[in-house]
Amino acid sequence: MWQTNATALRAGGEAMLVDSPYYPEELEAVPPLLDDSGFAPDALIATHGDFDHLLGRVAFPGLALGLGEPTVERFHREPGAAQRQLRDYDSKLYVERSGPLSLGQVQALPVPGSVELGDQELELHPASGHTSDGMVLFARWCGVLCVGDYLSRVEIPWISEGGSVEEYRATLARLRPLVEAADTIVPGHGAPHGSDVALGLLGEDLEYLDALERGEERPRLPQGRDSRFQRSIHTENLARV
Ligand SMILES: [Zn+2]
Repeated sequence: MWQTNATALRAGGEAMLVDSPYYPEELEAVPPLLDDSGFAPDALIATHGDFDHLLGRVAFPGLALGLGEPTVERFHREPGAAQRQLRDYDSKLYVERSGPLSLGQVQALPVPGSVELGDQELELHPASGHTSDGMVLFARWCGVLCVGDYLSRVEIPWISEGGSVEEYRATLARLRPLVEAADTIVPGHGAPHGSDVALGLLGEDLEYLDALERGEERPRLPQGRDSRFQRSIHTENLARV
């Protein structure tokens, strides 16, 4: 079972979809849902270049996909990697799709920077560490902060290929004032939370990174994140540090 969040944002008559769900049935359900609620998107945007955040065009094939410049650079360095990862996960989870992942028209966005949405500006903040790329999106006008694969109640800090503990720590430090200014924090995986819960997770994540850097083989994992799969992420992290 896999679960990835998508967030619809709206301002001044324009809407945007951040990231994407993973399963075909979910992707099929998104367009009518957003239509009915007045959030039919004019554009797509992804927090980072991992396969499970890039499927917006499956639901909205006509829309361009906004990516941070670091993500575009990552795709140039590893052409086809996201497509291969998606195929691997699909086969593991017995997911069938009508075609391969295509990114379509990509718009590169400077990070740090901002992108216009209707009469508002969506802030783009750098967020590497989990991967070599990554950005956090802050819709300050409505208090929604989309953090990508950070501050999750279900996932420990994952230093995946291209990521680093040092950059992960820098991202957490940048996140703190944003989390304090936000009302709703939406992680890539697991339920959204308020500022207090997100700050608690941030503290737990820093403690975990300390244990990781000490090379602990069986550290105490935070409550709710101590599962076999999270232990396997820890083993992968240890090999990378
Ligand atoms: Zn992810």
